[in-house]
Amino acid sequence: MSEIFDPSVTFEQLGLRSSVLKGLQAAGFQHPTDIQAKLIPVALTGKDVIGQAKTGTGKTAAFGLPILSLADKSIPMQALILVPTRELASQVASELEALGQFTPIRTACIIGGESMRQQQRSVQQGGHILVGTPGRVMDMHDRRQIHFDHVRFIVLDEVDRMLDIGFREDIRKILKLITRDHQTLFVSATISPEIERLARSFMKPDAVKIITAAGALTVSLVDQKYLSVEPWDKRALLLHLLQHEEPDTTVVFCRTKQTVRKVTEYLQKHGIDARQIHGDLPQSQRTRVMKSMRSGKLDVLIASDLAARGLDIAHISHVINYDLPEDPEVYVHRIGRTARAGRRGTAWAFVCPDEGQLLTQIEKLTGVLIERMSYPDFTPGPLPKDIAQERSKQAARPTSPLASLLQRTTPPPVQELDEKRLAEMFPGGLVPKTTPPRTLAAKFRTKRTRDSAKIAAKEGEPK
Ligand code: ADP
Ligand code: MG
Repeated sequence: MSEIFDPSVTFEQLGLRSSVLKGLQAAGFQHPTDIQAKLIPVALTGKDVIGQAKTGTGKTAAFGLPILSLADKSIPMQALILVPTRELASQVASELEALGQFTPIRTACIIGGESMRQQQRSVQQGGHILVGTPGRVMDMHDRRQIHFDHVRFIVLDEVDRMLDIGFREDIRKILKLITRDHQTLFVSATISPEIERLARSFMKPDAVKIITAAGALTVSLVDQKYLSVEPWDKRALLLHLLQHEEPDTTVVFCRTKQTVRKVTEYLQKHGIDARQIHGDLPQSQRTRVMKSMRSGKLDVLIASDLAARGLDIAHISHVINYDLPEDPEVYVHRIGRTARAGRRGTAWAFVCPDEGQLLTQIEKLTGVLIERMSYPDFTPGPLPKDIAQERSKQAARPTSPLASLLQRTTPPPVQELDEKRLAEMFPGGLVPKTTPPRTLAAKFRTKRTRDSAKIAAKEGEPK
């Protein structure tokens, strides 16, 4: 427990409004978590904060409570909280509504796939805090259904995701539109030095960084194992684990939407009540699946990385990485769907023979040695015919000199030249010590570049 909570501190000591304290009591929060104890007092002073803490350690309340405490009931749309998925936006909005139920501060959720008119109405009915996904927020702003004139607080939850290529430009656009002086709160479980640098370009120079994720990046309450498996055995192994190990509530992560669909169909065909979630499904279906997951009706969810970040469902006991993620940071977020708020959890990763390096990268990033789990009662299937054929074809193919060159992984050994040979090669005695710089050609103006520059100047074109 001490890994997450700070029992030496009470919420009363942090300087929060009494109406907020009442909300905390109603939610059953007794002590602040470590990140809450550290981040809240700093945020209450008005400073910009970048906060890094492990998954499931209460980052939502860490940025939400100071905003609920500092917000002014007479100012609409004064806080903007941006998150990467619709599901996470509605979760964060519900949590802030619950924690702020005794305050006059209301929260509105701005997400795609649902009625814009209804969202506009909830903003008009006192949306002091807007929680949303960047696309819909921009859209409603462009249609003048919301404005940023009074924005005093900006939050990027899952900041590293919000500033990666997919969202960066939208975020830049939104942040540019906020001209009023504002406080910035950015949080995530994974913040690389590059992301921190980028994040700081949107913050005041005296922004404070608060880290509680010292040591390993993942919570020790999650028991991590990997299972060695051939790609063609994955489906059967998954079925076997679900049937024999009997995990409670499980989320299975796949790399592509297509795999999500295929694995779900396979499990359903074999009598497992599995459902899927990914970005190609209609929002109504996504919402329905999330609802049955939250209510405990659904035991197995097959998901794309849409569900990798932020989602907080207390009873998820197992996370299975059916495919390892390409990005090791995604692994941290995926397995963070279990072992939340001091509970225990299990994470299993399927690792194919050619994925050892990826597993090592994950271990390096998380600072955890992931042990192998054996499953002697599972019989691997035979080598599929098409793969066997492909392999024998490859083995029979004569290797061309070019192919063998391309296959070579180690560079050819450097030949040591003796004095005599050097004297032959460089008769003047001037032996170059280094190779010439690659950009050498571009540094000199040749007759040709001079001529073309002259022609360009004559024709009035820019050089
Ligand atoms: P993170 O964003 O760090 O992954 P969340 O904000 O989603 O974590 O919180 C994880 C869970 O812990 C939520 O169910 C939340 O309600 C609960 N929680 C947060 N703070 C506390 C606290 N101080 N005491 C008890 N439960 C808490
Ligand atoms: Mg979170």
